[in-house]
Order: sequence, then C-alpha cells, then structure tokens
Amino acid sequence: MPSEPCMKTLLPHLACPECRTTDGLSLERATTLEGRRWQSMLREAAELQSKLVCRACTRSYPVTDDGIPVLWSDALERTFRSLHKELNAAAPTEQDVKAANIQLYDTISNAYDAEGVHADSVTRSRMVSAFEEAAAGRRGPHVDVGCGAGNVLEFFTDVLDGPRIGVDVSLTGLRAVRRKGFDAVMGDAERLPFAEGSIGLITASSVLHHLFRPERLMCEAYSVLRKGGVFLTDFDPNGRAARWGWLALQLYALRRPVYSLLSRGRRRVFHSSKQVQTWNALAEFHNKPGEGFDIGELQSSLVNAGFELRRIFPHNCRDNSVHQRSLVRPSARHLLVQSLSGRNAFSRRNSDTLLTASVKPEVPARMNHQGEISPWARQVTQKLFAAGASALQESEHALMAAAVPLTTTVATVGD
Ligand SMILES: [Zn+2]
Repeated sequence: MPSEPCMKTLLPHLACPECRTTDGLSLERATTLEGRRWQSMLREAAELQSKLVCRACTRSYPVTDDGIPVLWSDALERTFRSLHKELNAAAPTEQDVKAANIQLYDTISNAYDAEGVHADSVTRSRMVSAFEEAAAGRRGPHVDVGCGAGNVLEFFTDVLDGPRIGVDVSLTGLRAVRRKGFDAVMGDAERLPFAEGSIGLITASSVLHHLFRPERLMCEAYSVLRKGGVFLTDFDPNGRAARWGWLALQLYALRRPVYSLLSRGRRRVFHSSKQVQTWNALAEFHNKPGEGFDIGELQSSLVNAGFELRRIFPHNCRDNSVHQRSLVRPSARHLLVQSLSGRNAFSRRNSDTLLTASVKPEVPARMNHQGEISPWARQVTQKLFAAGASALQESEHALMAAAVPLTTTVATVGD
C-alpha cells in the first residue's frame, strides 16, 4: 500500500503553474482575508489557513485544511471566482467548459468511483501494456491528469517507481485520491503545476475531450515530462465513428430514455438529474455526434507538441490488449448507433474510442541522432507551409520545430 500522502514530500515536485520557475514554492500562513476569500471560492466548510507562495512571481495559492495544494492557473482561478454564474450551453466559452467539469465532478465523483467507470481489469491491462511497449524504464513520478477518484493511479501502483500524483479540478475527487494513499493537487490540465522535465509518466484517461483546447495539454505534458517520459491518453471518442447517420441522430434526440434502457442501470451517475445532464453535456465538450478526434489530426497534434507517437489504438471497452488485431467487440449501444449510420461496428477503424501512447524523445523530434531533420520535423514543416502563417502561432513547439529545420536547410544549401 502507498504511504500516507505528505505535503513535505509532495512540495519538491510542484511548481507555480503560471511562471513554472525552479525557485520553488514556500508554505506560509494565509491572511484572514485570503482564507475567507478562498473558503468561499472553493466552497469549503472552514476558512483556509495555509498557502503556497511562488518565490519568483509571488502568486499565492491556497492549501486546503486537509493539505491539498490548489495550484490553479489564472484561468482556473477566474472560473472558480464566477462559479455561481449561469453557463452558456448554446455557445460555451472555455470558462463554461471548465465550470461544467468542476460542478459535475464535485457532484458525481464519489458515485463515479463506486460504479467503477473505466476502472476495470481490461482497461488496466490495455493501458499498462501500452506504457510498457513505449517506456524505456519504469521511473516516475506518475502524474494522472483528470484523475477523478484515482483509478488510473491504482493501475500503475506496481508498474513504476516514484511518487503518484493525481491532478483534477474537483476537490471531491482529489479527497478520494488521498483516501487511497496517493498525492493530490488541484490543477488545470491546460497549465500543469510541475517543473519542466521532471515527470516520468503522464496519463490522461477520458480527459482530452473534456478540454476546450486539448492540444494545450499535449504541449504541457511535453514540457513537464523528462526525456524518454511517456504520455498516455485513453477513452477519447473516435471522430470517424462520431459522424453519425440520420437514423442514429434521430435516436440521439431521444437518447436520455433510450440510453437509460440500453445501459440497464449502469452509469446512471451521468443521468441522476437534469442539472447533472446539462453539466455532463458541456463537460463532454468534444464528445458528441460530429465531434471526436480524427486519427490523423490527433497524430499531427501530438507530433506538433514535440512527441514521438508510438501508437494510436482504436478500441472498444472490451479490447484488453494493444497488440490484438482481431475485430473489435462493440457494446450494444455502439453496435446500434454504427449500424443505424450504415457502418460496420466490428471494424477497428469505426471503434468508438482511441488510446494514444507517445514518448518525449531523447533528442528533440526535429533532429535525429546524426543531426539530420527527422521525418517528424519534415512533416510538421510541410504542414506549416501548407497552412500558412496563421498556423505558426498555433503552438510554440510547432514554431520551434519549423524554425530549426528551416535554418538547417538554408545552411545545407549554403554549403
Ligand atoms: Zn510563479
């Protein structure tokens, strides 16, 4: 069993999410004013007593009375400040999506844990074999982003060494994580509170589609992973299967009663009230008909972030190996929806969910060991040329990847 979490052992692994300097954070006493303000923002029972102060930028971060550091990004802090506001479901902003995730998982985390969603042995076996296939070693720390009640941290308990840290926006989920003996930090998936190059494994199960801009998590994961570190994502919707036909869309209009019937009592947690259904629809931001992740685009985003992509594995929940080449075993719901859309639900290309395994290369992806431009960089450069200047602003990493090969090319021509 993991030992009881302790703030002193956790602190050296944390960094200010906004400036991310290596100066570190110091534990101090919060003023009465801060304590009351944070109590109301976080809807805590008592006034907060402690804070972490960034030695570089002097931002202050709350620490809950049971010792959970709240290393929110500026954007996440703004969301907490306006949690009482009504959400715009018709044209949601980034803040609406963040707020829906906070409200939803504060409400359902305990029930979600009790129902064991994505916590089964098949899911464990698939994620662990994807990690073992990609990883050069078994060094931690392991950070699970969007950890919920900590099921993915449990999957990797015997697999790699080092601290195991859950990151989430829901304190209810984080408290469940601590009860299981893991460390817990409140943080924004789009602005991770760790030092650059410090983490061995980052997992994000059923998380990318909850984010307003999922590519930000990819860039963040790349920054905080050490060289050779692994980034694993799972349970994001396959965009190809999400392009539903007319008949399936008619069914979607009736989805709540039909869903309840098909699920026969399982996962009722997402349908427990009208309010929960509304939050869930917003929180599942890229998981609806016509949305999801196109396999090619997912690949480009990971490569643009700097990763070497080892595998994209389209699967359904019951496929327990990343090596298997057999037909997928669709759920009743997936079989029905794909059949109504005129698609073969048993084909892997049409499976409902995607897993990805990527590695932060020892040598930056834009160069190989001989200092030549790598195929990854060539692909990124060509993409940027094709997309024009606006794409250059899309990500800092893409810009870096483009700039170096261009210079190298010029130098080669000059020689
Ligand atoms: Zn700072």
